Amino acid sequence: MEKRMKTFFNFLKSAAIVVALFISLNILAQKSPERVEPPFWWAGMYHSELQLLVYAEDIGSTRLELTGKGVKVKEVIAVESPNYLFVYLDISNATAGKFEMKFSKLNEVVYKCEYELKEREEGSAYRLGFNATDAIYLLMPDRFSNGDLSNDNIDWMMEKSNRSNADGRHGGDIQGIINNLDYIKDLGFTAIWHNPVIENNQPQYTYHGYAITDFYKVDERLGTNEDYKRLVAEADKKGISIIKDMIFNHCGLYHWWMKDLPTNDWVHQWGDYTRTTYRGTTIVDPHVAQADLDLMLKGWFDRWMPDLNQRNRILAKYLIQNSVWWVEYSGINGIRMDTQPYPYKDFMADWAEYVMLEYPNFTIVGEAWLPYPSLVSYYQGGALNFDGYNSYLPSVFDFPLYYAITEAFNEKDSWDTGLIKLYNSISQDFLYPNPYELVVFGDNHDVDRLFTSLKEDPRKLKLALTFIFTTRGIPMMYSGTEILMSGIEHKGHGLMRKDFPGGWPADPVNAFTKKGRNSQQNEMWDHISKLLNYRKVKEVLHYGWLKHFVPQENIYVYFRYNDNETVMVIINSNEKNMELDMTRFAEATNGFSGAKDIITGKTFEGFKKWNIPAMTPMVLELK
Ligand code: CA
Repeated sequence: MEKRMKTFFNFLKSAAIVVALFISLNILAQKSPERVEPPFWWAGMYHSELQLLVYAEDIGSTRLELTGKGVKVKEVIAVESPNYLFVYLDISNATAGKFEMKFSKLNEVVYKCEYELKEREEGSAYRLGFNATDAIYLLMPDRFSNGDLSNDNIDWMMEKSNRSNADGRHGGDIQGIINNLDYIKDLGFTAIWHNPVIENNQPQYTYHGYAITDFYKVDERLGTNEDYKRLVAEADKKGISIIKDMIFNHCGLYHWWMKDLPTNDWVHQWGDYTRTTYRGTTIVDPHVAQADLDLMLKGWFDRWMPDLNQRNRILAKYLIQNSVWWVEYSGINGIRMDTQPYPYKDFMADWAEYVMLEYPNFTIVGEAWLPYPSLVSYYQGGALNFDGYNSYLPSVFDFPLYYAITEAFNEKDSWDTGLIKLYNSISQDFLYPNPYELVVFGDNHDVDRLFTSLKEDPRKLKLALTFIFTTRGIPMMYSGTEILMSGIEHKGHGLMRKDFPGGWPADPVNAFTKKGRNSQQNEMWDHISKLLNYRKVKEVLHYGWLKHFVPQENIYVYFRYNDNETVMVIINSNEKNMELDMTRFAEATNGFSGAKDIITGKTFEGFKKWNIPAMTPMVLELK
């Protein structure tokens, strides 16, 4: 009897184990992969192939079963790391909705998840990009305004906020931008380019945002993905476009995949840390040495930023889809691409072409930081390049003109110095397929502040900004210029990116208000606001032709004109009043009786001899 009982108990025991095993297997079957990226997609996109990165322990050896109407599995790729599976779907016939993916091993489902194809918002494909009708305000989210004190420090994230460290995080965020949209609008801007807002969970130097550690997530210290979407919507209500900063050249050293790279060639590997040469000229140099080209392309941007290998076709697709995901998800109107010449140029062209096919009216501006028009023009889409290269980029930053601006207003007038530099730079516009879509600027977050380059002379700054706002192209200004912020590059990048006064509740002054600015700052603020609000509605300053006259006696005169009107700009960079013989400009003033300066309201009759005030810009409507 006792023996029987024992056997019975033993039976119960083993039954319990079986049941427990069964339950645990079932629990296992409920498990979702750690990551599926993109986290969702949309039905009805132009491109019909969707690549999914699926990340989970040992998922590489599982078999995929997919049940979804109209969704076809094209290819499933396992890679060197056993913890990834890349799934390629054909969604050309898919409708919006959810489908299920099961990943099984030996007929046991080990992972499963639902995937959603969302409905696209109406008109999503035809959103308008930014263009010459716009004026762009560049701001760095961590340094602009702190709209949410509760996100300054996030427990699980490495770097905490510390405003006393110039290179630390200061707590600015997306809510801070939303709070000040009216300020930006009043100043006359219609677009914001912000430095990256994507997660940078690294131990230091994370405030600038260029060391991404998760491509699908806004940094929690700046807000959430939903906050970002809200920023785009709120800005749109005020007639402001959002231009998102993106980076394909590198990611952050602490990116989640760095601990478990899908493939060994995902990033460029070097025995010892090897930095890029930053020599962008090697890309177009017909005499280039392969060793130089390799260093430029494959060297790391810095120790904290591993160099991505976009020749890996899986990574290439991952990056391309990521950019489209953000456009579709958030509703942005433009992309500013960082370090344009550093990734493989064939990949960059594939990317831009893909995005522009998806959104034909969209705008991408590439940062090809090169000193000559012959180099920068190579990167504007449609350029007649010697090697047939087409970048498909609608816009590039006019770096040659930036250099000219920072020199022209400081130099003595001579054959080849002074304002002639502006003229000479612009006269090379024949190299660009579309000079009217170049972004024109006097500084950005990476260089000496314009006010500093111009020896902190507000008169020079007024001249330079007037030029930037009225010559051809899309004007861009770095936040803080309006309140005469200074900053020198070689003294540390943090110092060119100082906090905007008043962006933090305890700030002693609030420069977002007229009262918080001194008279010199208000004078500059008013000048910018007046000029940009005028420009906003003046078609002739957007796409009107440019005709300029060779500068003489340090005075640069040019005209913007179309069939309906003509605006004349006079840039007098002399320390004294000048008498200007207007008959020289007869071919542009013929048919007009006089002009009105839109800055001072002063009127001029006839075009004979005009008295021009020292160091003063004039913007004149011909009548
Ligand atoms: Ca904050």
